[in-house]
Amino acid sequence: MYMKRNTIICALLCLCLAATAVLAGCGSSSNDETTAATTASTVDSAKTDSIDYMALVNKTHALPDDWEDKLETVHMTNSVGDDVEVEKKAYDAYLELKAELEKEGVYVDLDSARRSVAEQQRIMDDFTEKYGADYAAKTVAKPGYSEHHTGLALDLYLIIDGKDVVENEDMIQYPEIWSKIHAKLADYGFILRYLDGSEHITGYGYEPWHIRYLDNVDTAKEITSKGVTFEEYLGAYTGGPVSIDYGTSEIYTEDELKDAVIQIKCKFAFWGDVDLKSIRYAGDEKATDEMLAKMNEINPDGKYTQVAEFLMDFHTPKEIGELTFNPDADYTDYQWWLARTADGGWEIVTFGYGY
Ligand SMILES: [Zn+2]
Repeated sequence: MYMKRNTIICALLCLCLAATAVLAGCGSSSNDETTAATTASTVDSAKTDSIDYMALVNKTHALPDDWEDKLETVHMTNSVGDDVEVEKKAYDAYLELKAELEKEGVYVDLDSARRSVAEQQRIMDDFTEKYGADYAAKTVAKPGYSEHHTGLALDLYLIIDGKDVVENEDMIQYPEIWSKIHAKLADYGFILRYLDGSEHITGYGYEPWHIRYLDNVDTAKEITSKGVTFEEYLGAYTGGPVSIDYGTSEIYTEDELKDAVIQIKCKFAFWGDVDLKSIRYAGDEKATDEMLAKMNEINPDGKYTQVAEFLMDFHTPKEIGELTFNPDADYTDYQWWLARTADGGWEIVTFGYGY
């Protein structure tokens, strides 16, 4: 949503704090809605080269350097009066999709689409100045690494009985409407980008509203019918299936443990080519008052009320890049400590060996 400059920071912050508890997405650091802001830019009609509609932009793959020179966009005004900038062909395809959905009584509009790298940097700078670099890095998506920079990623919202339903926690309440929308995406060259359960690959929790234009109906259909992420289709993720074991707990429900695992998987997505094998709940016996006190010591701002440990097995790649792991090695029982506050949102407090 578009907001006046001086209200952005407050709104973003509030949104972040609320989002973790309700949505169980990737937490404040990763929910791509926290960076929602559109910025006006001039449409350049003298482009010659075309953008690569199959480009991968995610938490480990930056927007290609010359992208913004090649990008051709259009502006539209949505039903709540916000300006939204979209890549030209993606917008045409979106209009066709929207018309088709309306035949089935499903009404959508565009919440946000393109955000420039400069705008993202501006938000990052504001947060750094106001709250410090650590908090900014945790809260704001890294400039250059959001798919929204491409202009090909569209966030939809629903219009139900003439009412705009724009908040994530409200939109998620309509799975039957989203499945009708998702069933039509590929016919117009779109895919659903952040699939449920694929957080360790995409780095984002399930977002039924975030769609990506590929400018190729056949490819979109192939990806959709295979049920894979864009990363997997492109071969950018080579890991196999991940085994998740919630064990048995008398403290937490399986849904609560699932929310915690999503946080871990989202964080894991930053680790590039590390091959995730398994994640398991370490058991109620590890959720002690002593460990809770330790978490509150590590992060005094946390005000945590509950704690849980998870164990992970993974294999590192031959080239580990910036990671501090040993290359081509198996790591077992790698520890993740998560804590949650009274409102129920999980936070990763620390991970590694020795706790
Ligand atoms: Zn999005």
